[in-house]
Amino acid sequence: MATSARIGRFLISTVQDHESPERDPAQVYKDVPASAWDPYRSFALNASGKYRSQWRGHLIKPASGGGPRILVDTGMGPGPHQHTGRNGELLQSLAAEKVSPEQIDAVVITHCHGDHIGWNVTWTGRSPAATFPNAIYYVAQADWDHYTTPENRNDAFERSVRPLEQLGRLRLVRGEAPIVNGVRTLPANGHTPGHQCVVVESQGQTGVLTGDLFHNVAQITEQSWCPVYDWNTTMSRASRGAVLDRAERENWAIFSGHLPIGTSIGAVVRKAARPSWKPI
Ligand SMILES: [Zn+2]
Repeated sequence: MATSARIGRFLISTVQDHESPERDPAQVYKDVPASAWDPYRSFALNASGKYRSQWRGHLIKPASGGGPRILVDTGMGPGPHQHTGRNGELLQSLAAEKVSPEQIDAVVITHCHGDHIGWNVTWTGRSPAATFPNAIYYVAQADWDHYTTPENRNDAFERSVRPLEQLGRLRLVRGEAPIVNGVRTLPANGHTPGHQCVVVESQGQTGVLTGDLFHNVAQITEQSWCPVYDWNTTMSRASRGAVLDRAERENWAIFSGHLPIGTSIGAVVRKAARPSWKPI
């Protein structure tokens, strides 16, 4: 039941923020008939046939000694959140890793949905400030272009991404962009126009932080299933297939965005000739 794993000289840890309301798979995966869930029910859904998404980021830091600290995604934000009345806990989770906001050198955003950007910016009245004041925030150019067009405007983006430009903390990236030596972005578009994974390579090991490449563990086997949140399902299917296939062939560790605490880090393995999730 790991919440962190080593990739060569890096340690990658989940940084928990909060938990979503209960999701009904019939609402999220509208094209998937209820019976198609039967093989996955025992581990992908709870006793009432629903599931919850975890909201989290991941911290990439040196396993020992000094070096850059990178935060990938920043959760849903401070809240308080309507469905629980409680606040997000990302900063406490970071503190538990003995890392302060000031010590974060880079924030990489997998995509600009509200549950991945929530702690980017702290507002005092009408004044925004970068929550991680010494970090450069890496955002995909394609997401920036999409969400800055008037018809795609939304509050989460305006509050948590747009201000980074005037604060001088924003770096827009295209393609595979290096963050630090051994860490780079990997475009996996479709969930949003600029959705990207983060690949960590060190000492012959590879880990991939997959953002919203998939939302439920059943999608490791049923790679064509798409949640209603996917912007372009032809693209998201192709990206999901390509990254999961490569992860399986090359034995990558996968750090998932939304799977349950304790089983969110895993690998793709063959089971009865089909890909399936094996938690680390
Ligand atoms: Zn998400």
